[in-house]
Amino acid sequence: MIPYSRQAIDDDDVEAVLQVLSSDYLTQGKRVPRFEQAMSEYCQAEFAVAVNSATSALHVACLALGLARGDWLWTSAMTFVASANCGVYCGAEVDFVDIDAKTGNISVAALEHKLVVARGEKRLPKILVVVHLAGMPAEMQQIRQLADEYGFYVIEDASHALGASYRNRPVGSCDYSEITVFSFHPVKPITSAEGGMALTCDAGLAKRMRLFANHGIERDADRLSIDDAPGWYYEQVMLGYNYRMSDLHAALGLTQLQKLEKFLDKRRAIASSYDQALQHLPVVMPVEATHCSSAWHLFSIRIPAIESSDSRDRVYRYMREQDVGVQVHYIPLYHHPYYSRQGFVPASYPQTENYFNETLSLPCFPGLDKMQQQFVIEKLTEALS
Ligand SMILES: *Cc1c(COP(=O)(O)O)cnc(C)c1O
Repeated sequence: MIPYSRQAIDDDDVEAVLQVLSSDYLTQGKRVPRFEQAMSEYCQAEFAVAVNSATSALHVACLALGLARGDWLWTSAMTFVASANCGVYCGAEVDFVDIDAKTGNISVAALEHKLVVARGEKRLPKILVVVHLAGMPAEMQQIRQLADEYGFYVIEDASHALGASYRNRPVGSCDYSEITVFSFHPVKPITSAEGGMALTCDAGLAKRMRLFANHGIERDADRLSIDDAPGWYYEQVMLGYNYRMSDLHAALGLTQLQKLEKFLDKRRAIASSYDQALQHLPVVMPVEATHCSSAWHLFSIRIPAIESSDSRDRVYRYMREQDVGVQVHYIPLYHHPYYSRQGFVPASYPQTENYFNETLSLPCFPGLDKMQQQFVIEKLTEALS
């Protein structure tokens, strides 16, 4: 099976991890702060907090912003469950905003409309999680304007978007958000096996996220409740978790980050080959907005239901029979039993529903070779003819 995505691991990666295994520290050594430093430089954000997954990063981001019972967190439903679960972890209520028909990212018009209604009902969100679907940046400038006008915080879920840029600035710079979160799961732009990171330009938020990720334990002498504390002393000052990244994972993340530009070049080349080869087929291709450059985490086409309502599913089945691991990203979150029980009405999200019914992700990852891509193109052409 040619998967839709997979990691690209080479000898440097293996060597870096082996070195940690025979060193003094498997966790909390020098690789974690080095990886944080490297990410903060790459993304041009001042602070980076490494954790054991993007899910944990989203959770500590919400905690640091003070999300709690009685608050609302909004996001788009065309995403992975973690984008919304972070709100539930904090006891907040979750609600969804419809998406833009072209990109699948949150729709600024739908957001504005929902904000007007929510202001009337005094149910404005405290946090908006903005997903950069497939690696394509969302309309951050307009979203920031709405955030300032209506007084909510913005977390960018950039799990797909390491290496993308928006208005000539790297995603992760936090120019338009309080916090940006990345995932290093093996299918994502770079991997640390499991891992995630939260970036911010706010020193207070960075400090609080670090505390929440490390049991709420304070060791900074200046912040302890006693003077002249002995060396062994520490205090738990709030309830935190053990969400730390290990040095083994950070070592892999570091060597992977050095190859990010190479990976991005491969993904761009794959996207442009698909673009040329599939032009004549009855499918809708993903497009890059003029002020954006995508990280091409996913190459998701749209297969409109022309002759029958299950066009996409027919293509899905055909491709899978041919051992091409196409995938659907994503099932709208309100379709999952956990969220649907809360009474969401799919008809309130017409663009999310359309996108869901038509989308199909084709294999797109650095190790996909020309022959494999040609095979995918041939099989897709057969499936649609
Ligand atoms: C993968 C993913 C996550 C979760 O990442 P983990 O590192 O596996 O916790 C969150 N949001 C989106 C959009 C993702 O694709």
